[in-house]
Order: sequence, then C-alpha cells, then structure tokens
Amino acid sequence: MPDEMVRLTLDAEVCIGVGQCELLEPTVFLLDEDENISTLIGEATLPRDRAEAVVDKCPSSAIQIAEDS
Ligand code: SF4
Repeated sequence: MPDEMVRLTLDAEVCIGVGQCELLEPTVFLLDEDENISTLIGEATLPRDRAEAVVDKCPSSAIQIAEDS
C-alpha cells in the first residue's frame, strides 16, 4: 500500500549533509548547517511512497525505512 505510514531512520555517521532530504521532506528532516548533518524531526513517519522516494534521493544511503514499519 503506497499510502501506508512508515518510519524513517537516519545514520548520522554516513550523512554527508547534501540536504536532499530536507528539500524533499522539510517536515521530517532538518539539516544542521553547522554540523552539516541531517536530523529527523519528531516521529519521522511518511507515506511509504514518499519514504521510498527520499531513501532513493539520499546520495550516501544514510536514510532507511525502519524494519518494524
Ligand atoms: S540526503 Fe542523505 S546525505 Fe543528504 S543530508 Fe539527507 S541524509 Fe544526509
């Protein structure tokens, strides 16, 4: 189901701070401009189709869909 809600995770060790995630989903991702690392806001849930799109767009594969989603 593309509109099923799933939870995202973010590996800060892998993030390179490009900010694609924040551009695509500003309610879920916040780029820390000093650290150049993105962080998740709140529960970080999105419909599955949008979650998959943002996972695809991250250049360093730092974003994953949580296994328990
Ligand atoms: S798109 Fe990926 S690498 Fe870029 S800021 Fe977001 S999590 Fe980090």
